[in-house]
Amino acid sequence: MKIAIDGPAGAGKSTVARRLAEELGFVYIDTGAMYRVLTWKALQRGLDLYHEEELNRLASSIKIHFENDCKQQKVLCDGKDLTAAIRLPEVNAAVSTVASHPTIRRTMVEQQQHMASSISVVMDGRDIGECVLPDAEYKFFVTASVEERARRRAAELAASGLHIDYNTILQEITRRDKNDSERQTGALKILPDSIIIDSSEMSVEQVLQKMLAIIQGE
Ligand code: C5P
Repeated sequence: MKIAIDGPAGAGKSTVARRLAEELGFVYIDTGAMYRVLTWKALQRGLDLYHEEELNRLASSIKIHFENDCKQQKVLCDGKDLTAAIRLPEVNAAVSTVASHPTIRRTMVEQQQHMASSISVVMDGRDIGECVLPDAEYKFFVTASVEERARRRAAELAASGLHIDYNTILQEITRRDKNDSERQTGALKILPDSIIIDSSEMSVEQVLQKMLAIIQGE
């Protein structure tokens, strides 16, 4: 079975996707982390973020894989643990530019489809229902108001020791939403078969229970 979860930045997709995968005994694949790893690598190497060909060469050459810890999913690239590095503000600021290039998206979508082939997965991102898993049995679109998403992101960062001003986060999320929704390929959108969940006033647990009820046909 394939379950797609799409939605804007900070809607709580990854927490709920990880929990859902746990409940169902499926593998969780965080596709945002893959674009983040590529962005981190590109920044490290000082690549021009608008040089699509150079970035795509990098995308084709790196090996990303996930490891499941009990509470968290670790992201590794070429043997190095990048779980914390890919959440840094400089990666947030650059990732939607990297993800806007059509050839990069093709490379990533191929890798994601390969990872999902022959296993049951919960995959979250922006274009999962449309491009990566168009035949997914369930396509959830999880959203929340931009203010609520910024509040959650600020709290999450503060919990990990990074204190970033609420307005800075609000601006960054607004800009990323715009880039992610307006790009030509793999844009974030609600599909005709999307099941929309507005989590603005819901806890992770409530969103999870709602998804489980839908999947289990209650
Ligand atoms: O999900 P997360 O916020 O970590 O994703 C980071 C960025 O990666 C998004 O803002 C988007 O630009 C890009 N992304 C994407 N397609 C996906 C997943 C993420 O373009 N399937």
